[in-house]
Amino acid sequence: MEEVLKPDLCVIGAGSGGLSVAAAAAQFGVPVVLIEKGRMGGDRLNFGDVPSKALLAAGKRADAVRTASTFGIDVNEAQIDHRGVHDHVHGVIAAIAPNDSIERFTGLGVRVIQAKANFLDKNTVEAGRVLVHARRFVIATGSTPVIPSISGLDEVPYLTNETIFDVSERIQHLIVLGGGPFGLELGQAHSMLGSHVTIFDTEGFLPNEDPEATAVLLKRLEDTQIMLYPNTRVEKVERSMQGVAVHFHKDGETVIVKGTHLLVAAGRKPNVKSLSLERAGVTYTDEGIKVNEQLKTTNRRIYAIGDVIGGPQYSHLATYHAGIVVRNALFRLKPDVSAGTIPRVIYTAPELAQVGITEAEAHARYRRRRIRIYRWPYADIDRAQCERETEGFIKVITKRDGTILGCTIVGAQAGELLQLWVMAMAKDIKIGDLISLVLPYPTMSELSKRASYAYYQPNMTKGWMRSVIGLLRRLG
Ligand SMILES: Cc1cc2nc3c(=O)[nH]c(=O)nc-3n(C[C@H](O)[C@H](O)[C@H](O)COP(=O)(O)OP(=O)(O)OC[C@H]3O[C@@H](n4cnc5c(N)ncnc54)[C@H](O)[C@@H]3O)c2cc1C
Repeated sequence: MEEVLKPDLCVIGAGSGGLSVAAAAAQFGVPVVLIEKGRMGGDRLNFGDVPSKALLAAGKRADAVRTASTFGIDVNEAQIDHRGVHDHVHGVIAAIAPNDSIERFTGLGVRVIQAKANFLDKNTVEAGRVLVHARRFVIATGSTPVIPSISGLDEVPYLTNETIFDVSERIQHLIVLGGGPFGLELGQAHSMLGSHVTIFDTEGFLPNEDPEATAVLLKRLEDTQIMLYPNTRVEKVERSMQGVAVHFHKDGETVIVKGTHLLVAAGRKPNVKSLSLERAGVTYTDEGIKVNEQLKTTNRRIYAIGDVIGGPQYSHLATYHAGIVVRNALFRLKPDVSAGTIPRVIYTAPELAQVGITEAEAHARYRRRRIRIYRWPYADIDRAQCERETEGFIKVITKRDGTILGCTIVGAQAGELLQLWVMAMAKDIKIGDLISLVLPYPTMSELSKRASYAYYQPNMTKGWMRSVIGLLRRLG
């Protein structure tokens, strides 16, 4: 006998997007059903953001040991207990898991159903033995790894982001297919933990990021013996004595690289296929579910958010989508969906952080005389010298009147330093206004302030302005 539920809102998928919608709606007293087929917390908690950053944190500790002698501290070679690293990563997941748990959401008043959901018609979802007739639905089913069609790939064991965090032994040589943010982060984490790492990409690495910033990051990866093969198509994969052999062409010859483990990080595809969306009148393509500005699908009573709608894929974007849906579904507010101030960070060492448009995008969009580019190197920041983190720079792109169009930071703590620029852009604060901020000395955040000084440099011919800037610089 099937149970029939008639809530106001039914959310499918308990990842970053779905959990945020369900929690917010429940807190407004709305009856909500949340359906999850796998683990509560989705990719962010179980297979993505959290475990990858926890693994990188372990790698960075190992690296700190390796480079300690620069600070006059003599330590022996870092001894890595791979079972211990595995337990650290899963300990972090376990520490965060209660926030996303069935118990917590049930306590908030959400009815959680653990089953795979699919639509029966425009108003009904089936999940196990439960039928849900809701006034509105939110599809937040996320994405899964793309497995490229490479000869032999289906005959060798390979890892994805869904399995690599379960490995508890040393990976001797990790071959990564895909040099996007996740491939680079996971590749570098394993390299820092003592693996040989080779990364292939069919394109250049990080083609959408600022090339100067990318060059700083890639140089660090190469300096630490990570083998990078950009613009390289892997032709064939097969089993070898060590584990796996990857074949590709270079300068007209076939080259073979042998590794012990293979990680596929070659992009993500939206989870649309198993939902029977046709029955619900929801249009989708291989790129994701089609939505309008309010994130409504072609069935006006069904919203879709997060990775499943394609485009940029970040947890904070899925959460931002959730806010739009809650305001629209509950209060009929029509917020505009502006991706302009959605930041992104690659959490390698050094980090690469971006908000707004890059220099190349600015040149494509505006005439040269209408934009200004301001740069400042980490090497000129006293705190960066203390920490021996002098690689990298900030680059700020503005209109002539100082309106900030974008900011790129590559270097230590770039993701944290970006916050000031995200806020400045969101609140329409101009670059010149930042000069009056008093920031603590010595902090990395001086990098941002120095970039704002640069804004006044065209006026430096004026003697009085030169004196003011000189004074401000002396005052920090
Ligand atoms: C290795 C890696 C590292 C990442 N690092 C970062 C980072 O540092 N910062 C960042 O912002 N983003 C990061 N991301 C991206 C981020 O994880 C995603 O953008 C985010 O999780 C998307 O949230 P979502 O709610 O759309 O989907 P998900 O979190 O994927 O949640 C979707 C949920 O829906 C469930 N589901 C699917 N189909 C059904 C169904 N039919 N019925 C019921 N349930 C279903 C799934 O089981 C899943 O739990 C990373 C991703 C990866 C892979």
